[in-house]
Amino acid sequence: MILVVGGAGYIGSHINKLLNKKGYKTAVFDNLIYGHREFVKWGDFILGDLADIEQIRLVFKKNPIKAVMHFAALAYVGESVEDPQKYYINNVANTLNILRVMREFNVKFFIFSSTCATYGNPIETPIVENHPQNPINPYGQSKLMVEKILSDYNNAYGLKYATLRYFNAAGADPDNEIGEWHEPETHLIPLVLDAAIGKREDIKIFGTDYDTPDSTCIRDYIHVTDLADAHILALEYLFNGGKSEVFNLGNGNGVSVIEVIETARRVTGKNIKSVESPRRPGDPAVLVGSARKATEILNWQPRYFGLNNIIETAWSWHQKQQNIQD
Ligand code: UDP
Repeated sequence: MILVVGGAGYIGSHINKLLNKKGYKTAVFDNLIYGHREFVKWGDFILGDLADIEQIRLVFKKNPIKAVMHFAALAYVGESVEDPQKYYINNVANTLNILRVMREFNVKFFIFSSTCATYGNPIETPIVENHPQNPINPYGQSKLMVEKILSDYNNAYGLKYATLRYFNAAGADPDNEIGEWHEPETHLIPLVLDAAIGKREDIKIFGTDYDTPDSTCIRDYIHVTDLADAHILALEYLFNGGKSEVFNLGNGNGVSVIEVIETARRVTGKNIKSVESPRRPGDPAVLVGSARKATEILNWQPRYFGLNNIIETAWSWHQKQQNIQD
């Protein structure tokens, strides 16, 4: 059985679905603070919190856990600056709890959801895994701290881990069963689609004076189902004796804010109003990752390559979600 911690969230739920489709038994462990119970349509569900180590022990006692995939983290960059303690407790201390119980039960395999935010402001693009890591906010710091802990646990205790550094996760399940649903929502694509559906008046373009071809920020959007594929490949790589590794998960392909909005206009057929706005503090101009290592070692091939695929699946989900809420 695979324990999917945070499997009721956006990324975790897509991976939980794929694990089940591939024949793995899963148990999702989630406190439902940001997760959605209705996203756990596959495997078992356990309502629980990583702050409660006795509860984690009970889960390991009752279930034959072979590996842990860990998606439970707070991920609002701005909030992490205002309340770092919350981030270090949730993202670091609570992760230590699960690692501690894994040791107690001799569970050796761990897939960790990390982020390109651990790199900080890039010196070179596309970013490769050994690019210097200098996070510029407590969220990125908290993820980097766990990365370092994992490396020490590997050396001392033989923990086998794969750290996956996501670039911009986007899109939705192509079967339209689950998708992106954050409250509050801060991400570009769902906000653009909110404007398309009439839930908000416009989309603000944060910064139109960057040193990029159209003067707006460039990001590397990667379909959530492609992320899910990479997680399963990473798990199987570890099961087959692979050594602990870190992988970037991106497309190596940068897209600007204006390109996202234009693609959304085409896909939705809606006239989405955009408004030029000031820069958002802490946003690097360009964040694009090289996925070469994941391609070479894991044989990972993104299937939903390209912004059209991402926005089409996100739009289907967005419309369904809106109908449910109406
Ligand atoms: N962005 C924007 N307007 C918004 C939200 C985001 O222009 O309402 C920009 C943001 O500045 C960044 C890109 O869209 O350049 C992606 O932002 P998002 O928050 O989706 O992901 P991040 O790159 O911060 O992880």
